[in-house]
Amino acid sequence: MADTMTPSQRHDCMAAIHSSSTKPEIRLRKSLWALGFRFRINDKRLPGKPDIVLPKYRTAIFVHGCFWHGHSGCDKYRIPKTNSDFWTNKIERNKARDQEVWRRLEAQGWFVLVVWECELKKKVLPDTVSRVSNNIKENGVLFSQFREYRRKVSEVYRKEIASKKRMESKLLDEIKGMKSSCSPLK
Ligand SMILES: [Zn+2]
Repeated sequence: MADTMTPSQRHDCMAAIHSSSTKPEIRLRKSLWALGFRFRINDKRLPGKPDIVLPKYRTAIFVHGCFWHGHSGCDKYRIPKTNSDFWTNKIERNKARDQEVWRRLEAQGWFVLVVWECELKKKVLPDTVSRVSNNIKENGVLFSQFREYRRKVSEVYRKEIASKKRMESKLLDEIKGMKSSCSPLK
């Protein structure tokens, strides 16, 4: 990609790329919807405002432009020869920011999927959609296992607390009984 854009063209281009939904992203959304997945889009409540959020599967999806997010090994990720330092730095910063966002989401128990724009070209779209849909379902299984585990742990914990309380009150009763039978006034 040669850097032949004027500053205003570059501004328009960046604005278009950073706008909320791009064509490939819409393609992915439509495909997932058709498969029965339901989701929120551009959820501002989550770190990095993920493009597609599937709460039921605890999965957040980012559709990344290959150039802006530095898709390594991809044809669309070619640093322009002019101003190459500027572009390299800019894209490295984007990549660092992406990683920070993924880290924060994972810390909140979200599974993060990244889909590159080049994977949403019409020719490869069906393969990508089936891969993504499998990943989402796997995440869903893990998430429900995790919820089941958490439910069991809290059940065990509740039972422990209850039996501890029973023991405490039994002990208290015994102590009270001892006190009354040992009373010097009797
Ligand atoms: Zn790519």
